[in-house]
Amino acid sequence: MSSQIRLRFAPSPTGPLHMGGVRTALYNYLFAKKLGGKFILRIEDTDQARFVAGAEDYIKESLSWCGIKFDEGVDDKGEFGPYRQSERKELYTEYAQQLITNGWAYYAFDSSDELTALREKAESTGGVFTYNIECRQKLNNSLTLSAAEVDNKLKSDKAYVIRFKMPKEEEVIFEDLIRGEVRVKTEKLDDKVLFKSDGMPTYHLANIVDDHLMRISHVIRGEEWLPSAPLHILLYKAFGWKAPEFAHLPIILKPIGKGKLSKRDGDKMGFPVFPIQWNDPNSSEVFSGYREDGYFPDAFVNMLALLGWNPGTEQEIFSMEELIEAFSLDRVGKSGSKFDPEKTKWFNQQYLRAKSDKDLAILFQVELREKKIEVDSEKLEEVVGLVKERAIFISDFWSQSYFFFRAPTEFNAKVVKKRWKENTPQIITDLHDLFSNSEIWVAEPLHDIAANYIEKNELGFGAVMNALRLAVVGDGIGPDLFKIIEFVGREDALKRLNYALKTI
Ligand code: GLU
Repeated sequence: MSSQIRLRFAPSPTGPLHMGGVRTALYNYLFAKKLGGKFILRIEDTDQARFVAGAEDYIKESLSWCGIKFDEGVDDKGEFGPYRQSERKELYTEYAQQLITNGWAYYAFDSSDELTALREKAESTGGVFTYNIECRQKLNNSLTLSAAEVDNKLKSDKAYVIRFKMPKEEEVIFEDLIRGEVRVKTEKLDDKVLFKSDGMPTYHLANIVDDHLMRISHVIRGEEWLPSAPLHILLYKAFGWKAPEFAHLPIILKPIGKGKLSKRDGDKMGFPVFPIQWNDPNSSEVFSGYREDGYFPDAFVNMLALLGWNPGTEQEIFSMEELIEAFSLDRVGKSGSKFDPEKTKWFNQQYLRAKSDKDLAILFQVELREKKIEVDSEKLEEVVGLVKERAIFISDFWSQSYFFFRAPTEFNAKVVKKRWKENTPQIITDLHDLFSNSEIWVAEPLHDIAANYIEKNELGFGAVMNALRLAVVGDGIGPDLFKIIEFVGREDALKRLNYALKTI
């Protein structure tokens, strides 16, 4: 049974994959895996005019970063290939012919100039031109021309397309797994082009033929394809094939709740809209990505899973395995889901906190090496453990801990004004001497030395500690001060105090 569950993600390589597209891929993947089925990557590249170099690689890299894996597809083995539609080109002609033969499609010879004229004419009276049931009997096609004329035109070099012959007065009814029953009257639909003059099928024809040949059982895709679904259902009927189940996902809305989250929103509003950075080969524009912005892929995937689906419990953190286990289409909402960039950061923070200090240290080490800072990995784990509560991204570690690795060269003026009083130099000098006489260099005993000194001299605890922090860190920030003093070591710590005394 389970081998019959087959889902596909079928992107067109016309640009980068929007996070909405990643969510579509994810839901297909979760659904397939939950039911023990197969997940297929098919590249729908029949629209040569919109082809963008690098887009296919970008899509594959993005999904691989997200941990979404395919059982069959362009780079994986599979018995239903090739999985790139341009490599299946020859195959579609036969199916287009089949539709002509059985009366579900016809040749149309109208030139683009003729169609433009019709469009302009309709617009001039406030209407729209559609090639449909009503007007097709008046146009230049195999429904109106004689067989001999059609034959002549086909033999000549004149360009033609093949259009679907929308049946009259029918109602297309199908069950969408998310929306329930959908009904559309055929007079509302146009005679879509199925086969283009360049010898390529359009999306509609290739998509249906391939879903059938690849034995796709369920089509889960974005809401923008819902208007095409009645045509697709009719195409299955025309071929005499069983249609797959359909589920159309709601759109992802802008953080303000109105309108679709679009390609340009992200960089305008300060968050990525794409999984990984996209360098547009045409405009040389660079669009930011979650990966480059320091998000963990599992945090990003977790956030996306919950953007439109809910588990029906309070649980928010899900591993991929848990998502597979919990996912179901009946918990996908019908209305759009508002994207929340702050919540996305929250997810990243949760994933960061859940990582071991050791793993975090390995990630942080990369940045330190770039800065030519060498730190022993065990010592780095300690630092990471001290500051991880303050970090959302690995890149936050540096701003939260740079003073462990670098002595201050300057001092925050505001903090100086607030914390460095007339008697401070004397206090720091005394502490310097006391510390330098200490036999051991460990946080707690050093803390006790300072505490005893404060008590004996009846000084304010906060005032002294804040001034000491300023001298050691250069600022008023950071975790446990004595852990910092211990970490930097005797020589460096005493040097820092001397430098502060000299400089402030
Ligand atoms: N090639 C279409 C796209 O780019 C596929 C739509 C579908 O899943 O049917 O999204």
